[in-house]
Amino acid sequence: MKAYQLTKWQAEGEAREVPVPEPQAGQVLVKIGGAGACHSDLHFFESDGKNPFMASWHLPFTLGHENAGWVEKIGLGVAGLRPGDPVIVYCTWGCGACRNCRADLEQYCEKAAVMTEGAGIGHDGGLAEYLLVPAARFLLPLEGLHPRDAAPLADAGLTPYHAIKCSLDLLKPGSTAVIIGAGGLGQMAIQIVKALTPARVIAVDSAEQKLQAATQFGADAAVRSGDESAKQIRDLTDGKGAEVVLDIVGVDATLKLAAEVARPLGRLTVVGVGLGTLPFNFIQIPLQCSVSTTYYGTKNELLEVVALANAGKLRAEIEFFTLDQAGEAYRRLRRGAIRGRAVIIPT
Ligand SMILES: [Zn+2]
Ligand SMILES: [Zn+2]
Repeated sequence: MKAYQLTKWQAEGEAREVPVPEPQAGQVLVKIGGAGACHSDLHFFESDGKNPFMASWHLPFTLGHENAGWVEKIGLGVAGLRPGDPVIVYCTWGCGACRNCRADLEQYCEKAAVMTEGAGIGHDGGLAEYLLVPAARFLLPLEGLHPRDAAPLADAGLTPYHAIKCSLDLLKPGSTAVIIGAGGLGQMAIQIVKALTPARVIAVDSAEQKLQAATQFGADAAVRSGDESAKQIRDLTDGKGAEVVLDIVGVDATLKLAAEVARPLGRLTVVGVGLGTLPFNFIQIPLQCSVSTTYYGTKNELLEVVALANAGKLRAEIEFFTLDQAGEAYRRLRRGAIRGRAVIIPT
């Protein structure tokens, strides 16, 4: 079968011919209906592979951590799944046995060196005709949604969903959430805040077309990033700043903006893996504003994300590509020329 793989560091991915995997006991082979191309894959292309997260990865592996499709074949001992079942793939594959995995926090598996690996994250992912999934618990039912439309939910939906669930206590009537980055994840984040809370949403991006998309997806205000953006956001919040700031980009400039627009007792969550540095001292962060990262979400949260999409309250604007066009999809993503999400349909 054809697969789009990361074959060397500091290079784009490459289309290669690889064998179709055979599911062993406990494993499931999924026929991919759609696989999202994510901005974090671009970080993989740029990396020299030496950071602590990627140091344990073995190349080549197939990219694609946003996957949905149909059960093709099940290994011995797999119960509850039948060939043809539509499924979405939970992409962070923990050990299943440590305390965090038992608490449905496999994205924070205690056996992981830094971050939990999984489909398209150091292991073969879904930019191929078939994906071998190591355990049935990583497959969640997809009722009512086509896999090609559901694929982005696995990361672009789940990651902001988890971050927002962690801040629900602060998102009350009269509260404001600032969402920095209005691409695929940001557009989902806007809809999730609107579906789950009464808070107002201010979206920030450098691209006019993404600000337009943000408004279409329900943002109450859209602010172009630049020298004036911190002042504009503070003006929109009566000079007080926002209770919740999600930085979906995570580079130096967006982290600085995030710190400038959060309010005392607020929460600043870094979702984007831009690996920028947040200026931090007693006065650069609002008083008692907590700062954290988040990484993906839980399996139960992915079920909730699917339910939200099924209820018509969460959708991605998707451009579809064939597997042969995967390189082009990533190049357009890098240029900022994908307004929402790019999804590859391998067959
Ligand atoms: Zn991603
Ligand atoms: Zn674990």
